[in-house]
Amino acid sequence: MKVYEKAPAKINLLLDVLRKRSDGYHEVEMVMTMVDLADRLEMEELPRDTIIISSQAGFIPLDEKNLAFQAAKLIKERYEVKQGVYIHLDKKIPVAAGLAGGSSDAAAALRGLNRLWRLGIPDEELQALGAELGSDVPFCVTGGTAIASGRGERLQPIANPPQCWVILAKPPINVSTADIYGRLRADRITEHPSLADMVQAIDGHDFYGVCRSLGNVLEDVTLPLYPEVQQLKDAMVKLGADGVLMSGSGPTVFGLVSRESKIARIYNGLRGFCKEVYAVRLLGSRQGS
Ligand code: ATP
Repeated sequence: MKVYEKAPAKINLLLDVLRKRSDGYHEVEMVMTMVDLADRLEMEELPRDTIIISSQAGFIPLDEKNLAFQAAKLIKERYEVKQGVYIHLDKKIPVAAGLAGGSSDAAAALRGLNRLWRLGIPDEELQALGAELGSDVPFCVTGGTAIASGRGERLQPIANPPQCWVILAKPPINVSTADIYGRLRADRITEHPSLADMVQAIDGHDFYGVCRSLGNVLEDVTLPLYPEVQQLKDAMVKLGADGVLMSGSGPTVFGLVSRESKIARIYNGLRGFCKEVYAVRLLGSRQGS
């Protein structure tokens, strides 16, 4: 038997860091939503007690370092599953881009294996398993739009933002999330984005309000280190995107655009100097709905 799952990329409409905790993690406040750019996982049951990962993408680990492998191992151990699984990852989400590709693959593996092995695990329990794999995994289990707090694992679902186009552009550099958080001085952040303003704009279906409320405190760390990210932001604004922000710890920059007629100009303008550009829609609905 085989099952298939889509693993969409996430963007942060808002990313704030409140403080560094005594356990070394940062206390964050984020608004996350998903975009229609997705990896695809094919999962096939194996009679042998083994986990095999394959992918056409040459630059991700295929062993126990792969987050989909870790998800399969965790679910097998916790629910004493004796069968094995072959997982093929069709990667479309750029790697180490700030789009949570690995986390979404892990979440999709949890959802898919729950179905493949008929385990009947409820979403909340899958999310708790996901939290053991990474802070963004619980959100990726259900998707939709949510406020994430704590390490990112405490979730409060909210309405989806008004539908729009999302232009994503990734400069040819890889940014390590751990490195960016490691360099952040949480006590020196001078300007925090307003979660209340973002939630009010989303609730009011106010697209331009969402654009005005975009904010990511990690830009203060990533932009000075990688000037090409700032250049992409400037270019997107100049080309007419309505709201522009770096996603996660970067280096991907996204632009929200309400009018379809602007897309070709922005896309082509960016493609002039950046190879990886995508024009997609917000995903909106929760996974499985
Ligand atoms: P986040 O925004 O959650 O930090 P990211 O988009 O910046 O994530 P990923 O694409 O998840 O980063 O990749 C981060 C690292 O995780 C990569 O360097 C890669 O080696 C490793 N990795 C493990 N499993 C996967 C996977 N299934 N897909 C992509 N990368 C993976």
